[in-house]
Amino acid sequence: MYDLSRAHRHDRKMEDALVTHIVPGFTYRPVGNTDGDAIRPIGLVLHVQQGNGNLFGWFNNPSSQVSSTLWAGRSGEREQYVPSDVRAWAQVAGNASYDSIETEGFNTEPLTDAQIETVAQAYADGVRTFGWALVVTHTPGSSGLILHSDGGAAWGSHPDCPGVLRAAACGTIIARATAIVRRMVPARGGTIGGGTGGGSQAQAQAQAQALQQAVHVAADGIWGPATDAALQAVRENRHTRAEQAAVGTSADGVWGPQSQAAYVVTVKAIQSVLGVGVDGVWGAATDRAFTMARNTYFTP
Ligand SMILES: [Zn+2]
Repeated sequence: MYDLSRAHRHDRKMEDALVTHIVPGFTYRPVGNTDGDAIRPIGLVLHVQQGNGNLFGWFNNPSSQVSSTLWAGRSGEREQYVPSDVRAWAQVAGNASYDSIETEGFNTEPLTDAQIETVAQAYADGVRTFGWALVVTHTPGSSGLILHSDGGAAWGSHPDCPGVLRAAACGTIIARATAIVRRMVPARGGTIGGGTGGGSQAQAQAQAQALQQAVHVAADGIWGPATDAALQAVRENRHTRAEQAAVGTSADGVWGPQSQAAYVVTVKAIQSVLGVGVDGVWGAATDRAFTMARNTYFTP
């Protein structure tokens, strides 16, 4: 055969000067577990750490042979181990086309609000830097936020990474990333239901897209019948298959803990767009804001 490593080393030298992107707000702690080869990522793979504490030591240990682009601590700690435009070693065949983020904790626990914000900030940076689509995808090769488990055997066969509890936050993450990118909705507020009357059409469209992401329908920015049906299914909370689809869990007609967890995540995402208190409970204030927004934006 031929000496791949030498050619590789040559390439790497050239790339070293080019590959430098670090996500703003993340602490860059470069690790050894990378060949330094350049990539142009098309999205971000969500992982669960199955442990606690930062991963710098493990990813800098040559015997582990693993690394991730980013790490999201429970309390909002943000670390970057490999530049965004360099291949990390997180999901085998998926390493060539996706960045990766490890999330501290276990797949029996949902992401913390701080982690959701961290992933959203990282994702928004990828949208700005690499043009990632503001969508959740489950198809390897497509741009978007994707689960490690979505890659199947080609990505190392990790069916429980990040697990259903953390996967349920993907809609919220994309909704928040959308808000960040469009600079339309603050972290805990918004204007779609605020009645300020000052919102532009683009702003309303962005907020409608954020709502669409939250209820897992195509994000075209138009609050049409399909979007409305999904939102109403969540609002009515009758534990139907339609509601399960809207909250992003498997529509099997059995409302268990996973459906309930996904429901809470979805309500929180809707509340953050509506600009009401984000507590995961669809109460009177949420319903009032929803009704105002619907009166203004629903296009039958
Ligand atoms: Zn994983």
